[in-house]
Amino acid sequence: MINTIDYVRDMIYGLDALVELDDNTKAPAINLDNAATTPPFVQVAEEIQCQLVHYGSIGRGKGQKSEHTTEVYTRGRDIVKNFLGAGSDDYTVFYTQSTTDGLNKLASALIKCPYDIVLTTRMEHHANDLPWRERCKTVYADVDGKGRLKIKDIVRLLEAHHGKIKYVCVTAASNVTGYVNDIHRIAKLAHRHGAKIIVDGAQIVSHRAVNILGESPEENIDFFAFSAHKMYSPFGGGAVVGLKAVLDKHIPEFYGGGIVESVYDDSSCYGNAPDSYEAGSPNYPGVVGMLKAIEILQSLGFGYVKRYEQFLMRKTLAGLKKLPGVVLYGDCDEIADRVGVIPFNLQGIPPKVVAEYLAGKHAIAVRHAAFCAHPYVRRLTGESEKGKDCHPPTGMVRVSFGVYTNEADVDAFLEAIAAMLGGDRRMLNDYSSGKSGGQRIVNKPHDRG
Ligand code: PMP
Repeated sequence: MINTIDYVRDMIYGLDALVELDDNTKAPAINLDNAATTPPFVQVAEEIQCQLVHYGSIGRGKGQKSEHTTEVYTRGRDIVKNFLGAGSDDYTVFYTQSTTDGLNKLASALIKCPYDIVLTTRMEHHANDLPWRERCKTVYADVDGKGRLKIKDIVRLLEAHHGKIKYVCVTAASNVTGYVNDIHRIAKLAHRHGAKIIVDGAQIVSHRAVNILGESPEENIDFFAFSAHKMYSPFGGGAVVGLKAVLDKHIPEFYGGGIVESVYDDSSCYGNAPDSYEAGSPNYPGVVGMLKAIEILQSLGFGYVKRYEQFLMRKTLAGLKKLPGVVLYGDCDEIADRVGVIPFNLQGIPPKVVAEYLAGKHAIAVRHAAFCAHPYVRRLTGESEKGKDCHPPTGMVRVSFGVYTNEADVDAFLEAIAAMLGGDRRMLNDYSSGKSGGQRIVNKPHDRG
């Protein structure tokens, strides 16, 4: 395992970048915030640079560079389909900037009536809640005491609405607790009640193999959105894989060049998916980076990724459980259905202070607060909505692992938490009062990372 992890760390760009601490010394940054964004693979950066040599307009020009770019861009749709096991011609792929972009485009295209009903959950990132609730009636399946999605609640809502729910929108994995939902079981339930299923794949794609066809037609996922910046490629790449026949019937409210057959003085004829979902000039660097990242993740193998991540989870949770004053959320004993995300709090210390201390004193980057999932975080921490006065929840601290996270990163984190709960408590006043605050980058990542 150690050898493999050293090999994997060599594949990541910028791991030796130094940051400046609050005492003005420098230290290599430790990134435990991979659920937000992952650093790129070295080969992704190289591929983008190499492809820029041949960069031309996509789908619009006749020059050789334009033809090359168009071919790579178009062929990439099959690579994305293959990555998600969507081998059937029923599916098409449109590129997006991100999961948020993809889900908003789906909501804008598919929801045309405010009386449509969408079933989503209290576990969702805002990206898979707000685009629906702003356009139509939403009903929510809740989570249980440990924060797992209640499948029974999905059944209850589907039955209560007698086939009127049009879409079931659910995350494949939570960005707060890392719980992986059984999307194929949910697909079966949705289809049995005449609904289609839309999956937010942002947190699953770099952690587990996805096969959107499942094991039978009833288990098919109808639409699946994800972001490339959470799978070791930068530049705002992303995609939605979805049922072509359904996408062809609609277009999102996002208009511009490339989506029409013809525009007349007072009318226009729109083309089909995927083009009709990609108005404007495409993000070629984003797409080629994403395609390379897919190739590398596939070659690493998701069996390995999952095993290694579970090992890190067990080690971190065991370490945290030993420290009095640590409050953990979610099921920390049965973790087989969790990807590498651990939310926690330290008794008596605000999450913001914990995060600033970890960064400023130990060069450890984590995230704090409510992770764009306020209803879920409130359920986990027990914070009330406090009269709906627009205050976000205080929330928690989150560590999240990447394929390159090593045991030394985890040890450094656990030692920092132990120090914080012990001798360093006094200096926390500085962090609470804002005198210290966070790491600053002092060296640029070099060309090879
Ligand atoms: N869904 C989940 C579960 C996420 O974790 C995130 C990002 N934190 C998103 C959606 C939105 O992704 P993006 O910011 O790439 O649009």
